[in-house]
Amino acid sequence: MINGSIGLTIIFQIYNLAGIYLHIPFCRRACHYCDFHFSTNSNTLPSMVEALGMELVLRRNELNGSKIQTIYFGGGTPSLLGSKQLDFLLNTIFQNYCVESNLEVTIECNPEDIINEELQDFKKIGINRLSIGIQTLDDKALLLMNRNHDSKMSLLALDKTLKYDFGNLNIDLMYGMPGETLGIWKTNLNLVAQYNIKHISCYNLTVETRTALHHFLEKGKIAIPDDKWNKQIFELNGSFFLENGYEHYEISNFAKKDFISRHNSNYWKGEKYLGIGPSAHSYDGENHRSWNISNNIKYISGIEKGDPNFEIEVLTPNNRINELIMIGCRTKWGIDLVKLDEVESLASKTLIMQLEKENLMDKFALTDKYLILKEEAKLFADQIASSLFFSD
Ligand code: SF4
Repeated sequence: MINGSIGLTIIFQIYNLAGIYLHIPFCRRACHYCDFHFSTNSNTLPSMVEALGMELVLRRNELNGSKIQTIYFGGGTPSLLGSKQLDFLLNTIFQNYCVESNLEVTIECNPEDIINEELQDFKKIGINRLSIGIQTLDDKALLLMNRNHDSKMSLLALDKTLKYDFGNLNIDLMYGMPGETLGIWKTNLNLVAQYNIKHISCYNLTVETRTALHHFLEKGKIAIPDDKWNKQIFELNGSFFLENGYEHYEISNFAKKDFISRHNSNYWKGEKYLGIGPSAHSYDGENHRSWNISNNIKYISGIEKGDPNFEIEVLTPNNRINELIMIGCRTKWGIDLVKLDEVESLASKTLIMQLEKENLMDKFALTDKYLILKEEAKLFADQIASSLFFSD
């Protein structure tokens, strides 16, 4: 691992980048399950926007003129930015990078930020995909999550996206909250099904350490559903989304035809991306990852001095092979055997021998180029992948 500001330009400039991610590290309040990097103090928001613009300019040569296919405003809560600030960042990209005409531009929004004028402005400045953090339509669970909205606000937000014809819409859902019943989850699914939403990300709650939920769990104040319950919900989701015309293309992601997330799919296919903002990660598509410091003040001061605070990790061949296995088990595209062999000759042969040794061959469909995990084994994708990892 290499600290500091050495040689990023040299490392990245020979590769084409697929996308740009911008991290907006502010939230109105801290959700009890969240361990992302954000601050609830937005005093530095204007200087953060300036710094993000400066970082985009500072790093423009890393792309070596290659085309940007996707831009993603994530966070944090990007919908805290006004359309003028978003427009400034988009224009900085357009002026400094080579951008495809068929660009996907996504912004993550919280339901309370979906207001009529903003939706019109988003369209005007070129944002063509919304991702709304609905999580659940159960008010008790929203309260326990410490979300800044209730179910009524979420449904109103969905109505507005329909009114303004924001067709390319994702919503995030989260299952596995304390107290959730099968009935509550089915009601959630039936309500969202009425909106013909094009893309749904459906995550199982993970209780991360350093979160309020973890503290409540440790103190015995809450209990989370067990694996048996999660399996039931996972299977219910799979059949519900299939019946409603969605393709299960990644373990937690479902899309109607032509509406898979191009930005996230590029991550999963191992394409390159540039991460701008505190805590944002970048990948050169080969063997270098870097990430910016997770501290707003230090990030801004580093950028202002022209000396960004970041770290780089050099991936070993086994790191890269294991990532291909993990991503391949989680997606419909499967494990790319050709890419495995590009990293290390005969890696695909070693993997197939390992599958046979672990008696896992029947969990996969094998084509000439891919090993694809069967639908019925997807619940165990992460465990299966880790049992196949290469070690040094
Ligand atoms: S709004 Fe999003 S990023 Fe902010 S605390 Fe909640 S889940 Fe985390």
